[in-house]
Amino acid sequence: MSTENLWAPWRMDYLCQLESSGDLDAPELGSETSSSTCFICDAVAGKGDSEHARQRLVLQNDDRGVILLNRYPYTNGHLLIAPIAHVMELSDLESIQRTGLIDLVALSEQLLRVGLNPQGLNVGINIGRCAGAGLPGHLHVHVVPRWGGDTNFMQVTGQVRVIPQALEESFSHLSETLRKLIDVLH
Ligand SMILES: [Zn+2]
Repeated sequence: MSTENLWAPWRMDYLCQLESSGDLDAPELGSETSSSTCFICDAVAGKGDSEHARQRLVLQNDDRGVILLNRYPYTNGHLLIAPIAHVMELSDLESIQRTGLIDLVALSEQLLRVGLNPQGLNVGINIGRCAGAGLPGHLHVHVVPRWGGDTNFMQVTGQVRVIPQALEESFSHLSETLRKLIDVLH
């Protein structure tokens, strides 16, 4: 994912938070974070609980995995898609789990197209802390909507700290859009 031109100060908060919470206590590259401290496993565990989902920005939670709105986004609508299994790499998944994951990535792509009408999308996976994974223990796919000039937009929103409100609004909007989309697909 090309993020060189994106300035996202809230991601620094995130990385600092990881350091202080001890997630970096085992800095050896490839070391596994425990599933008990994993925010994706926590999201998965709340299946069927709408309040749990809203607090954790979980848009979809089914047998294939979860779609989350990233709390520390590069752009508005930055999604994380993860399998249920707490594994580090694509090769750790069984074929049917990989298929499910990609189905959810495709659903996310449709969701962002319909819900936010971006001009482009970045889809990517960072495997290992060295590659930029904030949570290296639990494989996740980033889907980031892009607009011309979004880097300027994000600098402004970062400075005035509108992100928390923007997150709640985005969550409500995308959640509603996804329910309608799933109705159409079935
Ligand atoms: Zn996990």
